Amino acid sequence: MTADILSLTLEELTEQFSVMGIQKFRAKQVYEWLHKHLAMSYDEMSNLPKALREDLKEKFPLHNCEIARKQVSKLDNTVKYLFRLHDGDFVESVVMKYKYGYTICVSTQVGCKMGCAFCASTLGGFKRCLLPGEILSQLYCAQHDLGERISHIVLMGMGEPLDNYDNVMRFLSLVTDEKGVNISMRNISLSTCGIVPKIEELLQKHLQLTLSISLHAPSDELRSKIMPINKRYPVDELLNICRKYVNETSRRISFEYSMLAGVNDSDECARLLASKLKGMLCHVNLIPVNEVAESPFKPSSPERIERFVEILGKSGINATVRRKLGSDIDASCGQLRLKENKNRSKGG
Ligand code: SAH
Repeated sequence: MTADILSLTLEELTEQFSVMGIQKFRAKQVYEWLHKHLAMSYDEMSNLPKALREDLKEKFPLHNCEIARKQVSKLDNTVKYLFRLHDGDFVESVVMKYKYGYTICVSTQVGCKMGCAFCASTLGGFKRCLLPGEILSQLYCAQHDLGERISHIVLMGMGEPLDNYDNVMRFLSLVTDEKGVNISMRNISLSTCGIVPKIEELLQKHLQLTLSISLHAPSDELRSKIMPINKRYPVDELLNICRKYVNETSRRISFEYSMLAGVNDSDECARLLASKLKGMLCHVNLIPVNEVAESPFKPSSPERIERFVEILGKSGINATVRRKLGSDIDASCGQLRLKENKNRSKGG
C-alpha cells in the first residue's frame, strides 16, 4: 500500500518504509527533503542512493503542483499562481507581501459547493477535495519559485476548508511540524462560510490559529439570499458558536464582510451587525467586493464604507477595511480558474 507521500507524517512514512524494508533513517531524510528543503523531485535528494530514488519514484510518485500560470501585480507585487494538479485540475494561490512577511492564500478544494452569490469559486463548479499534500504543495511551489520564506498562511482560496475537514486538519499538523516547514499555528487563519458542527469540532482542538467567519450580512433574510449555507446554519446559531469559540479559546474571531453596494451596506445593516456582535472579542474586516464578470455585485463606495466603519466603531466594534491587493490580476478566489476553464472549452 502506498499513499500520497506529501500527505504522510514522519511516523507514517517510517512505518511504510519499514514494511518495504527501507531503513528507518531514510524516512527522516526523505521527509526533510520534502518538507524542509522543499525538494520538487527525488533526483534532488542527493544523499539517497540512486537505486532507492528510482524505487521511490515508482512507489511514491511525487504529486507536486506545477505552475500553469503566474501573474505579478504591477501595483503591489502580489503574485497569483494558477497551479496544475497531477490529474489536470487547476487551483489558485495568491502570495501577498506585508510588513511582517509573506502570506500565502491557499485553496482547499477544486471549486466549491457552497454557492455564495458573489464568489467566483462557486461559478467554476465543485470538482473535488484537495489532499493535505496538495494544499502543502501550493506553499512549497510558491516558496520555491519566489525564493522567499513564506511565514503566514490563510485558508481563503478556493473551496470551503471545513467541507474538507480531515484533510485540512492533517495539512495543519504537517505545516506546523517542527521537523518540516515549521510555520507557527499563530500565523495561520482559517476562513469558513459557517458550517456550525465543524466549527464546534475545531473548537474542541483548541488550536492557536485565527478563525475567520465569512458573515457578509447580519440578518437571515439577507444572508440566506447571498449565502445558501445560512439556510442550514442561520446567523444566530453561527454567532452562538462563535461566542463559545471565543470564550473557550480566548482567541479573537475575525468576521469577513464583503461590501456589496446597495445590498448589505446600509446604516441599518451596520447597526444590526453592531448589535449582534456586541461584547464579543472580535474584529470586522470590510472588503469592497471584487467584481466578478458573471455576478451583478458592485463594491460599495469609499464613503459608504467609511460610514459603516463609523457606526460599528460607535458600538465599540473594531473594523478595518481590507487593503485591496492584486486587483489588476484577478486575485480574488476562483477568478483565474474560471478564465482558464473557459479558454480551454473555447479551444475545444
Ligand atoms: N470558503 C471559505 C474560504 C474561501 S473565500 C469562506 O467562505 O470563508 C475567502 C473570503 O473571500 C470569504 O470571506 C469569501 O466570502 C470572500 N469572497 C469571495 N468572493 C469574493 C469577492 N468577489 N469579493 C470579495 N470577497 C469575496
